Amino acid sequence: MAKPRALSAPSRALSVAVVGAGLGGMSAAALLAKAGYKVDIYERLPYAGGKAASRQLGGYRFDTGPSLFTMPWVFKEFFSALGERMEDRLKLIPLEPICNYFYQDGARLSSYADELRFGAELERATGATAAQLSRYLKKGRRVWSVAGELFLKHSLHEASTYLSPSGLWSILRLPAIDPLRSLHAANAAAFSDPRAVQLFDRYATYNGSDPYKTPATMRIVPHVEYRWGGWAVEGGIVSVPRAMEAAARDAGVRFHMASEVEAILTDEAGARATGIRVGGKELNYDIVISNADVLSTYRRLLGQPDAPEAKRYEALEPSSSGLVFLWGIKTSFEQLSSNNIFFSADYRREFSRIFDEGLVPDDPTMYVNITSKTSPQDAPAGCENWFVLINVPRNSGQDWQALAAGAKARILSRLGRELGRDIEPLIETEQLITPADIERDTGSTYGSLYGIASNDRFSAFFRHANRSRRIRGLYFSGGSAHPGGGMPLALLSGSITAELVRKHGTH
Ligand SMILES: Cc1cc2nc3c(=O)[nH]c(=O)nc-3n(C[C@H](O)[C@H](O)[C@H](O)COP(=O)(O)OP(=O)(O)OC[C@H]3O[C@@H](n4cnc5c(N)ncnc54)[C@H](O)[C@@H]3O)c2cc1C
Repeated sequence: MAKPRALSAPSRALSVAVVGAGLGGMSAAALLAKAGYKVDIYERLPYAGGKAASRQLGGYRFDTGPSLFTMPWVFKEFFSALGERMEDRLKLIPLEPICNYFYQDGARLSSYADELRFGAELERATGATAAQLSRYLKKGRRVWSVAGELFLKHSLHEASTYLSPSGLWSILRLPAIDPLRSLHAANAAAFSDPRAVQLFDRYATYNGSDPYKTPATMRIVPHVEYRWGGWAVEGGIVSVPRAMEAAARDAGVRFHMASEVEAILTDEAGARATGIRVGGKELNYDIVISNADVLSTYRRLLGQPDAPEAKRYEALEPSSSGLVFLWGIKTSFEQLSSNNIFFSADYRREFSRIFDEGLVPDDPTMYVNITSKTSPQDAPAGCENWFVLINVPRNSGQDWQALAAGAKARILSRLGRELGRDIEPLIETEQLITPADIERDTGSTYGSLYGIASNDRFSAFFRHANRSRRIRGLYFSGGSAHPGGGMPLALLSGSITAELVRKHGTH
């Protein structure tokens, strides 16, 4: 795997404004500051991290966005490009099991990064075999070797990506990434038990997609989870943006918190980015990087809702959103681990409701993340902080309070049945996060968790480029730009953008 190069200094210290201190914004900012650029980052909120936020409710602390940490090497490479060691900034806790799965027929199984252990567990709980798992993961490794580096570490919108020896090597082998059938079709062919199929179908949701539509190339997601493990972070996921912020500050980035960028400024012809407007003041910069959602960058910051890029992006299918319940639970459950999935009975119907009908599933798969399992300070002694998420369609003005009330009743009934306790009386403190809240609080269009979905075999190529071809000096980094959503990808997006700035600067 190629390591990120230490970026070389520009001939004159170019000034860079980064709009947004999400993971993608901070990674681009830190890498450029380290390379000698003068970098200011402007964040609308009083804290850095964007979707990777945290909330305190009484004695309980919750991560309100991401919960599972994967691909630790991405973070390691980021810190090492800054001349640091990740271990000095972040304490990762390996999860074994990575996740506990509960099925409606009563089957239960746990997944492990240790392939032998996971294979034995699959055989114990389902009719699938360890040999099937081994073959499946091997195939995932192959897809990764062809497409992983090409798709995730380079721009797909620059000719140089395809003309490099590694790019050409990958292009020649692209049929091996299995783009023509769906992830579900590949999983159904690989495993002789529907419960194993459902488990591996679930990886489509890691970027808000539908397993019945997303290409089998997405088996790259279970590959990275089982190859490099699933992790918790001491102090919760919020420790990740805090560590990145500290490293970025040490690299020389100047943070301006609670500073909403009102506009990205361009020259009269609209052909070059010239700076930003904040608090009514116009500030000149050589380069502007938007870590804000791509659509809102065109609609609000550039005032170009009809730009061809905005129209093209609007036509793409957004990833799903989430309905989240934060529950402080005044007891603890031994059956639960850090990550727990309670599967629906009919997965196809669940995704059809979300993506085809735009409706909240009537039998949703439930995800329960509990950081107090590994960070006990996140809940009072003997208690647990539950982050309960179901996948729902994007926000289009639904009555989320009413929908949440119905969903809550279904969640309580299912969890009560599985755990053998009436859950409602155990909820000591509660807060709801709806797709409308996610849209308002994180600026993500439609409240989508991961930008556009990968429900099309060409989606990887449709994400917004990291460098604008129409407006010189304007760049994009973050989950709605290439290579897409999820913490490691958002961070990689910032690395790609930093490389492009180094290469193209104001051109
Ligand atoms: C509920 C939920 C669950 C998730 N689960 C996982 C998971 O388990 N694992 C995983 O890897 N990923 C998960 N994700 C996805 C992950 O959080 C995101 O992909 C990633 O954090 C996005 O980073 P980003 O760089 O796009 O920035 P964002 O987090 O989108 O941040 C953008 C920042 O820009 C700021 N901003 C926007 N406009 C302006 C402006 N005009 N002026 C100033 N600042 C502005 C915003 O305030 C925000 O801070 C989840 C997301 C959510 C919401």
